[in-house]
Amino acid sequence: MTSVATRLTLLTSRPDAAPGASASCSAALAEQPWDFPTPLTEGYGPGASQHDVVPPGSPAQPAIPQRYRDASPQELDAMIRAAKRTLGERVVVMGHFYQRDEVVAHADFIGDSFQLAQQARAHPGAEAIVFCGVHFMAETADILSTDAQAVILPNPAAGCSMADMADEDSVEECWAELADVLGPHATDENGSVLTDERGEPLASVVPVTYMNSSAALKAFCGRNGGIVCTSSNAATVLEWAFARGQRVLFFPDQHLGRNTAKAMGVPLEQMPLWNPRKPLGGNSPESLADARVILWHGFCSVHRRFTVAQIEQARAEHPGCTVVAHPECPMEVVDAADSSGSTDHIRKAVAAAEPGRTFAIGTEINMVNRLAAEHPEHTIFCLDPVICPCSTMYRIHPGYLAWVLEELVAGRVVNRVSVDREVAREASVALERMLAAVPRA
Ligand code: SF4
Repeated sequence: MTSVATRLTLLTSRPDAAPGASASCSAALAEQPWDFPTPLTEGYGPGASQHDVVPPGSPAQPAIPQRYRDASPQELDAMIRAAKRTLGERVVVMGHFYQRDEVVAHADFIGDSFQLAQQARAHPGAEAIVFCGVHFMAETADILSTDAQAVILPNPAAGCSMADMADEDSVEECWAELADVLGPHATDENGSVLTDERGEPLASVVPVTYMNSSAALKAFCGRNGGIVCTSSNAATVLEWAFARGQRVLFFPDQHLGRNTAKAMGVPLEQMPLWNPRKPLGGNSPESLADARVILWHGFCSVHRRFTVAQIEQARAEHPGCTVVAHPECPMEVVDAADSSGSTDHIRKAVAAAEPGRTFAIGTEINMVNRLAAEHPEHTIFCLDPVICPCSTMYRIHPGYLAWVLEELVAGRVVNRVSVDREVAREASVALERMLAAVPRA
């Protein structure tokens, strides 16, 4: 099993590699890892999200000392191990499922964003939490950890193109426009305010943000009667929201919102898309009044690559294979798959299968490769034949991990992610609501 980094390097050395194996995935990802921190004028850099627009003011990483850039993979591995040995329990390293193998090898915990945030909360004794994921994950870890702990993102340019598609100003504008059209409370045809089973007035709109969003948007939900969801609990969270309001504003991922609401029986006609660049999001007041879920115009560039044609090809080449897709994939892909669910669902589906099965999986390539290595009893491959890791996740190069750990050894905290206290307080409200929202028995 070769790592994604090795395979990308092999791709770059192939004479037919340039200009990339597809329109949106380029082998150049492996060539200049140190270029990612420089001003990002053309998007997120090589990889699945290279064509998305990076918001102005996004964090950047200044150059780190040359010795980290010149070190071989083996030297970086040794530096990281030595620093971790010295720091002992003073540091905890978190590694997201989508992170490259050379980084995950040093993680004390591997998981999805929510599992890692829970681990951050579960280790109050560690002085530092080094989060090998992307920016919104480190923010959540900072919110859930103690004030005394420092959450460190080895490269602050490791953002998330989906999270960046919904900024606080655009969501506040949307909220104000919805209030103008729909008013604060749900009403019947006579204009009487509707109430829930406790006699509380039903909100006209309940905001729901995916975990993949900034702390500012989680805080927005906290102060506006809303909640956070993950890909594991989105249906439970939507039930929570429908019990408190007439409709939901779901951001930033339209696909998770649509796939979840559709599975709950919400008709597509009652799920208008909100384009923040258009008045009323491009909708009529009537369609918004009739809506059950208003979907923000956001998506994951990695999961958007999966297609029904890839599923058909997988089934043609591997008759009887099981197709499992992440709910960030487009609706047509989720509908055509055998099952769909979070990274946890995908892992459990593979682990529970009888030996000898074949799985075609629609999620990020690092996770698929790792599943294939962990389950040699199955044949496991990625639905997308082109190697396309999450390019922002990929910015956590082992050189940055070595640097932040050696700085900790020297008594210096670099690249600390620190959420404003008031933002953290409001975001906690939405996160605690999520933790309290348990599925109905
Ligand atoms: S895989 Fe998609 S949603 Fe996840 S961090 Fe990368 S761009 Fe963001």
